[in-house]
Amino acid sequence: MSAYRGRFAPSPTGDLHAGSLLAALGSWLLARRAGGEWHVRIEDVDRPREVPGAADRQLNALHAFGLVPDGPVLRQSERDAVYRGMLEPLLASGRAFHCWCSRADLAASGGVHRACVHGPVPGRAPAIRLRVDEGTDVAFVDAIRGPVRQRVDLVAGDFVLFRADGLWAYQFAVVVDDALQGITDVVRGADLLDSTPRQILLQRNLGLPTPRHAHLPLVTDAAGRKLSKSDAAWPVDAADPLPALRRAWLQLGQAVDPAPDARTPARWLGAAVDAFEPARIPTGEIRHTPARGHA
Ligand code: GLU
Repeated sequence: MSAYRGRFAPSPTGDLHAGSLLAALGSWLLARRAGGEWHVRIEDVDRPREVPGAADRQLNALHAFGLVPDGPVLRQSERDAVYRGMLEPLLASGRAFHCWCSRADLAASGGVHRACVHGPVPGRAPAIRLRVDEGTDVAFVDAIRGPVRQRVDLVAGDFVLFRADGLWAYQFAVVVDDALQGITDVVRGADLLDSTPRQILLQRNLGLPTPRHAHLPLVTDAAGRKLSKSDAAWPVDAADPLPALRRAWLQLGQAVDPAPDARTPARWLGAAVDAFEPARIPTGEIRHTPARGHA
């Protein structure tokens, strides 16, 4: 197995936008630069939020951008049995527990669960939560952002692993899959920085290794709002990939176009790997200005 295994893990809630392309390109460049592998996983556990056809359009778009995974694409919707198997020991040891508290029950504590308000409620399906001990403090060093620390008991509380509506929670599925796919380096948008301490805690509870982390700058619109696939905000044009790749390159803080004459993504990406300077990746937010005319 390669010493570096990176990944890009989009949820199929819409078409790829400038923020997701930044995450795809950034994770691909860091993997290739390290001589490592790059994998793609479709995070389709949240069926109600899924947009029909989006996963295939995302995969086609990645292909058009020249970002081709090193192996089969994993789909979380097919991994129910794997997740069940990983959850069982947590339930058996009491690290995870069934919980009948509703959203309304937790409203007073800002949605943070510390102790159950209810016992079993007949006719209502329970969620399954991870028990987070008082004083749980998780620290890690992000390759781009530096030291990060979070009191998980105060910020997230006993967080959900399996939802009352019968769906796997993102936090649980992502941790299981990163570990079982042998991912050594998680590179993704900074909107997930807050989730990382929960994921590290879960890795510890499951006896899984913790990968390295690098959180790329968040791309916002002109008003400072995070771009979201579900708003269909600024989809990238896979029919004309080079301008979007060049824009993402600039957003990664890279100063000089590595191949101004390149006419194909493959050629441009080859030069980009050599020219890439990870230390230039910005730590703040990036305002996305959609291309007018040409990029
Ligand atoms: N599936 C998540 C998303 O599309 C990303 C998860 C991750 O990279 O850990 O926002």
